[in-house]
Amino acid sequence: MSQNTAIPTVKLLIDGKLVESRTSQWRDVVNPATQEVLARVPFATEDEMNAAVASAREAFKTWRKTPIGARARIFLKYQQLIRENMKELAALLTAEQGKTLPDAEGDIFRGLEVVEHAANIGTLQMGELANNVANGVDTYTLNQPLGVCAGITPFNFPAMIPLWMFPMAIATGNTFVLKPSEQDPMVTMRLAELAIEAGIPAGVLNVIHGGVDAVNLLCDHPDIKAVSFVGSTKVGTHVYNRATANGKRAQCMMGAKNHAIILPDAHKQQTLNNLAGAAFGAAGQRCMALSVVILVGEAQTWLPDLVEKARSLKIGAGVEPGTDVGPVVSCAALDRVSSLIAAGEREGAQLVLDGRNPQVTGYASGNFVGPTIFAGVTPEMSIYRDEIFGPVLCVVNAASLDEAIAFINANPNGNGTALFTRSGAAARHFQEEIDVGQVGINVPIPVPVPLFSFTGSRASKLGDLGPYGKQVVQFYTQTKTVTSRWFDEDEVGGAVNTTITLK
Ligand code: NAD
Repeated sequence: MSQNTAIPTVKLLIDGKLVESRTSQWRDVVNPATQEVLARVPFATEDEMNAAVASAREAFKTWRKTPIGARARIFLKYQQLIRENMKELAALLTAEQGKTLPDAEGDIFRGLEVVEHAANIGTLQMGELANNVANGVDTYTLNQPLGVCAGITPFNFPAMIPLWMFPMAIATGNTFVLKPSEQDPMVTMRLAELAIEAGIPAGVLNVIHGGVDAVNLLCDHPDIKAVSFVGSTKVGTHVYNRATANGKRAQCMMGAKNHAIILPDAHKQQTLNNLAGAAFGAAGQRCMALSVVILVGEAQTWLPDLVEKARSLKIGAGVEPGTDVGPVVSCAALDRVSSLIAAGEREGAQLVLDGRNPQVTGYASGNFVGPTIFAGVTPEMSIYRDEIFGPVLCVVNAASLDEAIAFINANPNGNGTALFTRSGAAARHFQEEIDVGQVGINVPIPVPVPLFSFTGSRASKLGDLGPYGKQVVQFYTQTKTVTSRWFDEDEVGGAVNTTITLK
């Protein structure tokens, strides 16, 4: 691909400056509702990527010693700038990603919450002290930054997920190299510009663009100490294996298949509204989207109501007021979703609502697929095994709560799950027995706020620690234990044996 000069280019951020890439490889950033080319994104050259890492390495020398309060104040300013620019950021996000404007604001807002948390990092990074562990001896810990850290992000939350990463890494004293998704890098870049405007010094945050080569360089570069990845299971597994083989810390949040169980005592209308929003909102392109509903006992009679609810959702461009379901991100994503729907039919599932080829006035070339529901789905079918990442819901029947729990626990993924019920006892049994990292009780998409951490589990995650919240402070710091003794001036001599005697 060569560069077309009439279309704006996405810049790299290296050493505090926005830089035009000298690469010969470019990719179009396309509006998924209209196919308009919004910009061209470079695949950075190796020299440019190495320059970004070198700048981060140099900046670490001073940034790591910058007082906690000075670091925190930058994030206070940053959160203000994000709030002031919310509408502009949301419009950019909707244009390049496709989600509705309210959803785009939600994407930014969930990232903003992490920025607010980063502004309060001091208490989380504090060490511990034990006084008098031996005579005149104290032991304490320092939680020190690692150095240059890297982040690799997916297309589906181009604001929230970059903001899960660099604010916490930088607030704890590290420097950062971010590689956003090449499908929708524009809002991420605007957020990076605002971070510089907020006062993040040159080299502390760098952004490179690219694909496989950029990801591999970040996993291999000897100056990078930790890699945080969010994306598909296939790529995440590669990143984890490659980064850890090179001695780096790695955390990878990956693919999902999220189930909700509906008990017949649940509030029916509330439940149906929640299911429709969680399965079809953001065109099903959330890692916590609901992709399987298990109807237990009498709740199986709710299927026609669920279909009606889904049918009533408005499909359209994200900029149009009242839109419930926007386009999927690319023509390739649309082809993939459509071919999985066809596979579901071939494999014998009942297609009770077919959302393919909807008519969307004014947006004839958009990547639209409407809410789609399959009933009679079994675990062998590809629509159950694969993550569809589109507005497609699989419905399964179960005779009891325990049967439904066993069904979910047999799925390899562990990102999110939910139970709808009015029974406290059923809810408690569910939270105890379910083997999934993020559990909702009458909450369909239980993503924790940044006071906690994102806690996907099993095949949805590699690495022990989550990407924000308390856990990420551990991820981005190395604990040093100091044992110290101060001699009084008049103390006489000392034994030859210097080992501290614990008595
Ligand atoms: P993706 O894995 O295709 O891309 C993620 C990143 O990896 C991008 O920056 C991309 O440039 C890079 N990449 C793509 N192919 C690569 C390759 N072959 N080698 C090296 N790097 C490569 O994911 P996506 O399609 O952008 O995002 C959707 C996926 O992300 C879904 O599977 C979704 O469940 C997952 N996701 C998970 C979470 C979570 O927290 N668990 C959150 C959001 C998204």
